[in-house]
Amino acid sequence: MTRALDERTELLREIRAHLEWEGQVGSVGIPPVARATPAHLATQPLPSTGPEPASPARGSEEPQARGFEPGGGAAPGPAADRRIRLATIAEQVSGCTRCDLAKGRTRTVFARGNPDSPLVFVGEGPGQEEDLQGLPFVGAAGKLLDKMIGAMGYGREDVYICNVVKCRPPGNRTPLPNEAGACAPFLHEQLDLVAPRVIVALGRCAAENMGLVPAGGGWRGRWGRFRGVEVMPTYHPAFLLRSPEYKRPVWEDLQKVMARLRGGA
Ligand code: SF4
Repeated sequence: MTRALDERTELLREIRAHLEWEGQVGSVGIPPVARATPAHLATQPLPSTGPEPASPARGSEEPQARGFEPGGGAAPGPAADRRIRLATIAEQVSGCTRCDLAKGRTRTVFARGNPDSPLVFVGEGPGQEEDLQGLPFVGAAGKLLDKMIGAMGYGREDVYICNVVKCRPPGNRTPLPNEAGACAPFLHEQLDLVAPRVIVALGRCAAENMGLVPAGGGWRGRWGRFRGVEVMPTYHPAFLLRSPEYKRPVWEDLQKVMARLRGGA
């Protein structure tokens, strides 16, 4: 009985999140999956598509050989081992002084969500609220991201969320190339361990650090590939708070992600 009530409450919460998001982006179509669980999605084959051309950018590198099929959703190693390894990296991050961002942080911000998820969101860096709580995307932008995730048919803890840098840049500025470069090994190992089927790069900084910003611009909404995983770069929720007129193209990007996770184009 309690479980049925919990499920109903969760369903109502997701519907509310979707309607709130749709009310802001306009009627661009209800997601064809009311609730696509990671387990369901993990059974769907991912069609191969050619990677988008990407120019070299800061922090970029070639995809590395991995112990599983790229983009195939088969995470390396047993889930428990991966969780232990992720916890070890989070511990290393908590004591890291590789760059000057360590001097101003209150807490390091490693990740939140489900490390077994096929879907990962990568943002830029912690803001003030994230720095205080030690969790990514818990401020105003995080609340908007939660609505976006809910509209996609997920609960906020169904997906995995992390940032390019794990310590707050002063004044919420964009991380400098040397800071992003110093933190890159943490992000790379994190992504390799989670081994999602799709990454959503939130904002230009995240896209740049995956080598997905072409010299001529036009980075949003174009499929790319990073460390063997397909990436959809789109605008950061913080940008959407300032410029809500861009919510529609972001929703279109997220619909592409949903279609790809279902095995479509
Ligand atoms: Fe270390 Fe990354 Fe924090 Fe810099 S931002 S101190 S590299 S954890």
